[in-house]
Amino acid sequence: MDITIAYFHPLHHAEVVKQDFDQIRAVGAGSIVYAIHEQEAQRWPRDLERGLRLAQDTGLKVYLSLGRYGNLFAGPAFMPSWYTFHHPDTRVMDRHGRYHDVSCFNHESFRSWLFNEMEQYLRKFPINGILIDEPRGPDVTCFCSVCRALCPDVTDLQRFRMRSMVDFLGELCGCVKRVDPHAKTAIALLPQDLGQVDELAALPHLDTVGGHLFWQLLHEDVSVVEKWGRSIVEGARQYGKRSQLWLQNFNLVGGEEQALESAFKQIAGLEPDEVAGYYYWRNNEDPWCVWQTTRRLLRSIPRRQLFWHKMVSSS
Ligand SMILES: [Zn+2]
Repeated sequence: MDITIAYFHPLHHAEVVKQDFDQIRAVGAGSIVYAIHEQEAQRWPRDLERGLRLAQDTGLKVYLSLGRYGNLFAGPAFMPSWYTFHHPDTRVMDRHGRYHDVSCFNHESFRSWLFNEMEQYLRKFPINGILIDEPRGPDVTCFCSVCRALCPDVTDLQRFRMRSMVDFLGELCGCVKRVDPHAKTAIALLPQDLGQVDELAALPHLDTVGGHLFWQLLHEDVSVVEKWGRSIVEGARQYGKRSQLWLQNFNLVGGEEQALESAFKQIAGLEPDEVAGYYYWRNNEDPWCVWQTTRRLLRSIPRRQLFWHKMVSSS
């Protein structure tokens, strides 16, 4: 099992960042996820370049997440998309003619802007892959002029929304591979979107299907983690894709560390290709304790590399 850690912290204090990456590497992680928001690359490209390079120098692969681009993906900073703000004509419009604060992925101008942004990142920064974080999909059926032109049958618009979302995500992954054939692609879904696992796993240019198994955030009993996780692991495996299960090691109050341990055991028992979590993420009552628990749990995963060393030395 590989380990991925989301590092949603600033990169501009290199010494601190280096210490953090050393800690992340020491728990056995092989990758980090770093989220970028619109305009950051123009404002502080040197911090980004240096920070992401530091991760790679520490032996960590870097997955970039496009935070809140078009308000279509999740992102650690609660800021709206500049693109959507400046291009209100691209917004999703519901059946009542009301606009929603999210760009419709069927707008060609939005797509080409997004694909171009991604291409620039892949070319300019040390990045090993792209993570599509909680893509917002068919929660609102879009009746904008573009969607209606593409799907003249109004009664079919809802299903069209789903089809075109899968198509859009597939094209996004294809774009990553065109720019860099070695770059990896991953999608992390929310539990309420797990019905999309099969269709997404079938996308030819998608490497990893992941899920945010955030039981506590969704007011569920921790035992639900097994059920959610299983649908991802089995769905991904069916199409020969990698599975990535996320641990909710944030927003926990005292005593919930035990539930964290239970969630981890359920995840590990499913033997996904990857387990993922956060480095010191938000709103824990005792952040230090949650990170120490996370470290202890992750360290309990048998390490492939150590095993490999043993095999080599005994031969
Ligand atoms: Zn639309």
